Amino acid sequence: MKVGVVGAAGRMGATVCRSVGGDAGMELVAGVDPSRAGDSLVSVTGAGREGVAIASDLDALVGAGAEVVVDFTSPEVIRTNLAWYAAYGLHAVVGTTGLSEGDLASVAAEFDPSAGVGCIIAPNFAIGALLMIRFAEMAAPWFETAEIVELHHDAKVDAPSGTAMLTAARMAEASSAWGTDPTLSHVVAGARGGVGPGGIHVHSVRLRGLVAHQEVLLGTTGQTLSIRHDSIDRESFMPGVLIAVRAVADRPGLTVGLEAVLGI
Ligand code: NAD
Repeated sequence: MKVGVVGAAGRMGATVCRSVGGDAGMELVAGVDPSRAGDSLVSVTGAGREGVAIASDLDALVGAGAEVVVDFTSPEVIRTNLAWYAAYGLHAVVGTTGLSEGDLASVAAEFDPSAGVGCIIAPNFAIGALLMIRFAEMAAPWFETAEIVELHHDAKVDAPSGTAMLTAARMAEASSAWGTDPTLSHVVAGARGGVGPGGIHVHSVRLRGLVAHQEVLLGTTGQTLSIRHDSIDRESFMPGVLIAVRAVADRPGLTVGLEAVLGI
């Protein structure tokens, strides 16, 4: 399978390049990233054939014969990129976060299943994180109060994380009986975090040294339950990314969430 990586010089993109390069069934044929355009793909990422340079734009994917593209770029460019992948019939695996519900509706229209092109968008590729969400959803009907604390490295540009919003949405679907916020006076604006689906409060911590972490706190009379997941290395996302790359061509149209692919 010929794979192109967009955002190839980024923290996630370079890790994806190495994972694709190390998979016997895949070939890394192109890397796109304007920040390192012209530099050698193998020297920047540690993967790819000698002589292949990082490209500045998406046209390189077609030129290299990529069948599947993996996109880890930024919320500013992902909408344009997705429209381009659909127009050129490239199967897309997207880890870039920050897409709204409205964006997802447009992407679903662009990736019409009848065209036979697949797109998997997953706010979190770490299988442990998906299990955390599933466990939180299972626990939700048994608790009246819940808060989510997500913690990420200090270069993350969007907040709250896509994973935190997805967790809150799944918990809100599983239970509508969440208690109301007792706070009458906010000494500092935002002290109670943002309010996500179901009225569940979401707190975003940004700290140098962290990768991606989340704790779901649930409380009811006389007991609390904490469900925590830590991605301590970007490698944690790679098994999920490779599963999506293998699956995407067999799933025409838009799939949101790797859990749909894993069946959890
Ligand atoms: P990063 O800033 O290290 O990398 C992003 C890269 O994209 C940069 O190298 C940048 O130059 C490049 N880029 C920007 N515009 C581009 C364009 N038009 N074409 C090609 N490349 C372009 O960021 P990161 O930490 O690697 O994260 C990237 C995205 O992945 C973020 O949205 C982040 O939230 C998300 N993320 C998702 C998961 C997941 O499991 N789904 C995990 C970690 C991070």
